[in-house]
This record gives sequence, structure tokens and C-alpha cells, in this order.
Amino acid sequence: MADAQPTPMMAQYLSLKAEAQDCLLFYRMGDFFELFFDDARIASGVLDIALTARGEHDGAKIPMCGVPVHAATGYLQRLIKVGHRVAIAEQTESPEAARKARGSKALVGRAIVRVVTAGTLTEEALLDSRAANWCAAIAEAGGGTAIAAADISTGEFLVIETSRAGLAAELARLGAAEVIAPEDAAIAEHATGSRPRADFDSARGEARLKALHGVATLDAFGTLSRAGLAAAGGLIAYLDHTAKGALPFLRPPRVAASAQVMAIDAATRESLELCVASGGARAGSLLDAVDRTVTGAGARLLGQDIAAPLMDRAAIDERLALVQHFYDDAGARERLRGALRALPDIGRALGRLAAGRGSPRDLGQLRDGLDGAWRLAEALAHTPEPPALLAALLPTLRGHGALIDLLTRALVPAPPIDASAGGYIAAGYDAALDDLRDAGAGGRRAIAALEAEYRTRTGTPTLKIRHNGVLGYHIEVPARAADALLAADSGFTHRQTLAGVVRFNAPELHEVAAKVAHAGAHALAAEAAHLEELVAAALAQREVIARTADALARIDVAAGLAERAAESGWARPRLVDHACFEVEGGRHPVVEAAVAKSGGRFVANDCRLSEDARLWLVTGPNMGGKSTFLRQNALIAVLAQAGSFVPATSATLGLVDRLFSRVGASDNLARGRSTFMVEMVETAAILAQATPRSFVILDEVGRGTSTYDGLAIAWAVVEAIHEDNRCRCLFATHYHELTRLAERCDALSLHHVRAREWKGELVLLHEVADGPADRSYGLAVARLAGLPPATIRRAKSVLDRLESGRAKTGGLAAGLDDLPLFAAAAQAEEAKAVDALREELARTDVDALSPREALELVYRLKGLA
Ligand code: ADP
Repeated sequence: MADAQPTPMMAQYLSLKAEAQDCLLFYRMGDFFELFFDDARIASGVLDIALTARGEHDGAKIPMCGVPVHAATGYLQRLIKVGHRVAIAEQTESPEAARKARGSKALVGRAIVRVVTAGTLTEEALLDSRAANWCAAIAEAGGGTAIAAADISTGEFLVIETSRAGLAAELARLGAAEVIAPEDAAIAEHATGSRPRADFDSARGEARLKALHGVATLDAFGTLSRAGLAAAGGLIAYLDHTAKGALPFLRPPRVAASAQVMAIDAATRESLELCVASGGARAGSLLDAVDRTVTGAGARLLGQDIAAPLMDRAAIDERLALVQHFYDDAGARERLRGALRALPDIGRALGRLAAGRGSPRDLGQLRDGLDGAWRLAEALAHTPEPPALLAALLPTLRGHGALIDLLTRALVPAPPIDASAGGYIAAGYDAALDDLRDAGAGGRRAIAALEAEYRTRTGTPTLKIRHNGVLGYHIEVPARAADALLAADSGFTHRQTLAGVVRFNAPELHEVAAKVAHAGAHALAAEAAHLEELVAAALAQREVIARTADALARIDVAAGLAERAAESGWARPRLVDHACFEVEGGRHPVVEAAVAKSGGRFVANDCRLSEDARLWLVTGPNMGGKSTFLRQNALIAVLAQAGSFVPATSATLGLVDRLFSRVGASDNLARGRSTFMVEMVETAAILAQATPRSFVILDEVGRGTSTYDGLAIAWAVVEAIHEDNRCRCLFATHYHELTRLAERCDALSLHHVRAREWKGELVLLHEVADGPADRSYGLAVARLAGLPPATIRRAKSVLDRLESGRAKTGGLAAGLDDLPLFAAAAQAEEAKAVDALREELARTDVDALSPREALELVYRLKGLA
């Protein structure tokens, strides 16, 4: 029956589903959210719940599954985690109201009230308290590219001006849970979803921003480009769409240009494991190794700091001075951290309240958090010579006296999450509410008295007065004691007989119960009205509260970094303007922890780069510590510019504008891509982008292909970096032949990780020393790894053959010494092409050419160029 009419309910479902588009639709039916058709198939699979069927549609059974409303959060979390978006269709009226309005068979009205997506969560249970949750929109306009991003759990709002080439790196820095782009836009490949183009119109974006912040001009927010306005407009439209018109709280946008932070592309972030380790978890990352913050907001801010090291020396020094301040006074630091630890997350509480999903508990958290901030400010106010940043932050910690006072008077000490049962407004706040509560309490005492009286009157000590949703207050006795109450003149009316018990009512009880119910309902209504006023009072201050939350987070970050530095003897880095990189006693915080765990000792190493000694070529056996050395220096640059002390005894660093880290293909197998191609694409990006202020680490580049190709590529890359990019660079390689480059590249020096053979065993010293490695230790490493002795012996004899052959022919690197220098070589190639063109032109008798021959000539010349 293909043309059968759908039932009214199905018709309603289908129209809501059409509105929900590619979201799964949670369709509220009583105590359940139901899913139908493909949604049901998908959800039952992801959630591992039963798929059933209900009714028919187009002659086929309708697949269905459902989740209980009270447990919906957990199910939502699992769906969002695997990348789904969920539209929630709630009942907009009660079944009774529907029947009253439209007759006994009336369908309950429903509407989509919210679209839950990874980037638009505010629920505590769905969010990681230690990570920001960004929702981003990207747009291009007026020749520019921009990202707008909001963390609606706290109201933070950023606009990042970038370029098409820089987009991927900026998005990687942000680590957004969701990225939306205009439909069919060229940049949509970077997005997780798209929205209509009209949403990204820059003029409309400007109007939206003005309306949102109630301002006539955006000048106060900094300069927003057309792309910035378009992205901001697209983001606001999207948030509006997911919240179905209840736009969440957004602070005025902070405008950032890519140039204000160290540029770190996605591959480098991944390779250095800055904020997430290679497995995708936070554990094992630099962030995790450094993080000693004690609040969620502090952890979130530290994540942002490490993801975006600064380029402004004054700002870095300000952060470092604050860390130093807490570093110097361990006692004060400990007290401060103790106080911070006890503070609730006011940023997120505010976010929930602003999103209309707040609870009395969130107000309680604001009260306690703001009060704590005030006390902290009092304690810190006695600091004799506060660093500039602290002096700037202190005033924002205070200034909530009236709100704290209001919330303290209005709320009970520990308000509940669920407002529906009341009980969160404190006694003494509202005399009328107190009276209602007294009446309720008096009624309940009267009921207890009645129970005692009925027991005596009926001679039934097991008689009880109970309460439930259907009967209200009633009298209950065991069936065998029911006779006394069933007697015609007992004064009790029979209500219900169940297995084992019989239930009654009585006129006095009815009267008292009505009073209790009446007082209860009025008290609840009074509390709800107060809740609304209190939320409004808090939200009126949201911008200042958010600034207080920021200040607490900044203080927590600095105190945490001081703690980390004190724990392992880290040093305050000195930042300078020239392109040097001098680290003494540098360590890798993640590897050091791993080495210490297995009972070992980490060997600290120096690194000294300067403008005329800017490239270190590091050789030495596998497992000797080359990668670790390279990475630790890159991490030190990140930490220093993020405003942290660094794992070294001393460090003097010239600001790094761009950081690159590349690892040779065979280390990347886990990524499962065409690895050599990836390696070359990434290397090309470095050669195109690195400037004299950049810092590059290259680990075994070229080894993803045959020996000759690999050596040739590595050779050319080192030369190009040395001659053209002129950046600071650490280059680790097992191509011993590259050491010959030292003779021709004057800013390149040779270094190796030391190893020693002792009683036939290879001992890796993990010590970086000057000069080339004296030999290759491949076989020794193989023995260390447990390759059978017979195999080792065989490999040894093959090696001997190869080496004697090499000696005769001049070896793999034979001829490399006569290679012209990089620049000269490039010029020679160009000159050759120019000569060929000249010759061909000289040969040509222009007047003798037919039009066709002239055209052919042009093609020939083009081929020679
Ligand atoms: P390579 O890049 O030379 O193959 P790695 O840097 O990967 O070597 O280091 C291999 C292992 O050696 C590390 O996992 C670590 O356990 C240990 N190691 C590296 N550097 C050090 C060091 N400086 N001190 C102590 N152990 C180290």
C-alpha cells in the first residue's frame, strides 16, 4: 500500500525529521526519546540497544529504538562522540492540554528545541572539564580567510584572521570539536559540516555581531576583516540554529592574527605531541607532562597557551614574571593552590546558566567561586612587589560583593541540581515562602499526629499514613488488620485493595493533606520565581564574572607552571631578538618521565645554535637519542614562548616565528598513509615557509625511499635549508655520507650521539657530542634487539663484502665531493636552459617563418625553458 496515508503521529514525525535534516531525531514520547527508520538502525548499533518495530509505513514495518529520558545524557554522549548530531524534539504541551484543546484523540504538539552537536555542548557530563570545547566556522571574503570560534560552555569567542594556506594549521591549533563552512566553498574540505552560504554574508555577520553585543560599532573589538565578519556571522547563525533561537552567551570577540603566535602546522603538532599524544589521548603529550594546574579552567587555559606560543616578548616576559613570582615562594604557592583547588568552575557554571540549562547548583557554584576569588584577592593583596600581570589581575577578582551577598542570603549552602523538588532557597530570604513552608511542615506534623491517633483508635499498631502520586496521602494497613477500618461506622473510606494491604482515606486526613499540597505547590512556585530573578541577576554580571574566571585561570596556570618548574629544576628562559638557541642541560619532559619510571637516568644535553652556526647535523646509532634530542629542543621553544620555565639548566632563545618538525617516513607507518609522499609534501612545506627566524627539526628525512634517492634528497634538503631558508635547524640522519656537507656549508656543524661497545655489547650513552659518529652501529643495535647470533654473523660477512666493494669504487658518496655548491648548481641549471633558448633563437630566420612554423617555434622554445 504505497499510497497509504501516514498516521498523524508519523506525519508529525516525518515533518520534524525533514527539519532535522542529517541529524538523528530524538522524538519525545512520554518518558522516552524514540528514534525511527534509519536513525533507529544507526542508534541501536552505536548504543547497542534493541531495535524493535512499530506500526507500518509504506507497507513496511517501522524500525524503532528508544532511550529513557532520564538516561538520555549518556546515550547522547556516545552518539556525539562518534560524530553524530542529534536534534531533540520535545513535547511542547502536556497530553491533557492537547486533549482539552483539540479533543480526545489530539496529538501532542512537538518541536525541535535543540540540536546537540559536539561543538555546542554545555552539559557537565558531556564535557571534559580540563579541555576547551570549540565550535568553529570558517569563511573567505574580500581576499582573506578567517576562523570564528566559540566555546559556549564558557562564552569565549575568538576571531582568527589567517590565510587559505594557514587555515589548516590554525584549525589544528584550535582543535575544534566541530568546524562548519559555507556550502560548496573551496575551504569546505577543512570542515565537519556546512551551512547555507547566506549565513556567511559579511554584512549580515556585522549586523549579527552588533545586535548580539548591543553596540552600534564594532570598533571596540579590534579590526575585523570582511572574512572575520563572515565567519563570525556564520558561527552565530549556526549556534542560533542549534539552540533554536536561544542563542548562548558569547563574550565580545577577541581578534587574533596568525602573526601574533608561533606558527605550528598540523603535522608538527602531531609529531611533537603538543596537546595530544600519538594515540589521541592527552596522556603522553607535552601538555600532560607540564600540567600541574588544579582547576579545570586552568587546565583549559594551559592547553591554549601551549597550542599557541606567543611572538610578543613583552607578553611572554609578563607571564614568566608571574611564574617566577610563584616559583620563588613555595609556601605562598602551596596556600594559593590549595585555595584554587577548592573553587568551583565558575566559567562553565555561567555558561550553563546563560544557555538556559542552569540549575540552583550552578548559582551556588557562582557564589562559592566568586567568594573564593575575593578571598584570594585579599590574600594576594599583601604581595610586596606584585609582578605587573598579578597587579592587573587582582582587581578583576574582586567586585562581586553585591552578587555574592545576594546569592549567600538567597540560597541554601548546597543547592541541588534538580530544581523541580524545591528546597534551594534559604530560610529567612523570603518571609512569605517561610510561611508556606511552615504551613507545609505544620501539616506534616499534623499528619504524623493523625497516624498515632488512628493507630490507637483502630487498635492497629501496623497502620501507616503513606503518600504516593496517585492517591496522595492515604492510610494503609495489612489486609488481615483491615476489618476494623472496613466497618461501616469506622469513619474511613476504602480506596484500594492490593495483595497484602488495603488503603483508606479519612476526612481529617483529606483536609490536612490538601493544606500540605497547597502550601507545597505555592512554595515551589515561589522558589521558581526567585530562581529566575537570581539567574537574571547573575547573568547581568556575566561579562565581569567571565573576566574573574579568566583571571583565576591565569593565576592557576602560572602557579602550576611554577610548581612544575620547582619539581624538576626547570629554568626561566631568556628571550632575545637575534636568532640564537642556546640551551644548557636540556631535557625532554615526556621521555625523561618514561626513563625515570623504568629506573633509568635521563642524560641532559646542550644545544647551541646561532646565526652563523645554525644547522646541526646529528648522526649516531639508532636508539641513540637523536629524535629525543631534536624534539626536546623544539619543545623548549614551545614552552618558553608559552610563558613557561623550561626543562634545562639555562636557556637563551631568539623568538621562533615558525616551528617545523618532520620525521622520516618509516617512523610514520602507524599513520597508514603513502608515507614517502607525505614526507616529501611536508618537507616541501618547510622549504617553502621557513624563515631565518624559524626553527626546524628534521629526523631521518629521506629514508622512506631507496638509499640513493634518500641520500640525494636529504643532501639537497640540507643544502636548501642552509643556503635559502637560513633557519635554525637540527637534522638527524643515519646517512653518514651527509657529514661531508660540513666542508661546504659553513654554518653547519657535525654532532653525534655517543655509543660505546663494551665486551661485545653496545652501550648507548645518549650523550650529544661534537663531531661525526665514527662508525655505524647497525649490527650492534640488531644484536641489542635480540637478532639471533647466526643472523648477526651472516650480516657481518655481507657488510664486509659491501664495504670492501665500496672502498674500491669510491663508495656511495663517491663523486659527491666534486658536486658544485647548491646555489651554483641551481644557477648552472638555469644558465643551461637560457643557452639553449639563445641558440634556437639565433638559428631562426624570422622572416622566413610561416604562421604555422612560428607557432611550432613558440612550442619548441617553451619546451626548452
Ligand atoms: P634515535 O632517534 O637515535 O633512534 P631516540 O631518540 O628515539 O633514538 O631514543 C631511543 C630511546 O633512548 C628513548 O626511547 C629513550 O628511552 C632513550 N633515550 C633517548 N634520549 C635519552 C637521554 N638523553 N637520556 C636517557 N635516555 C634517553
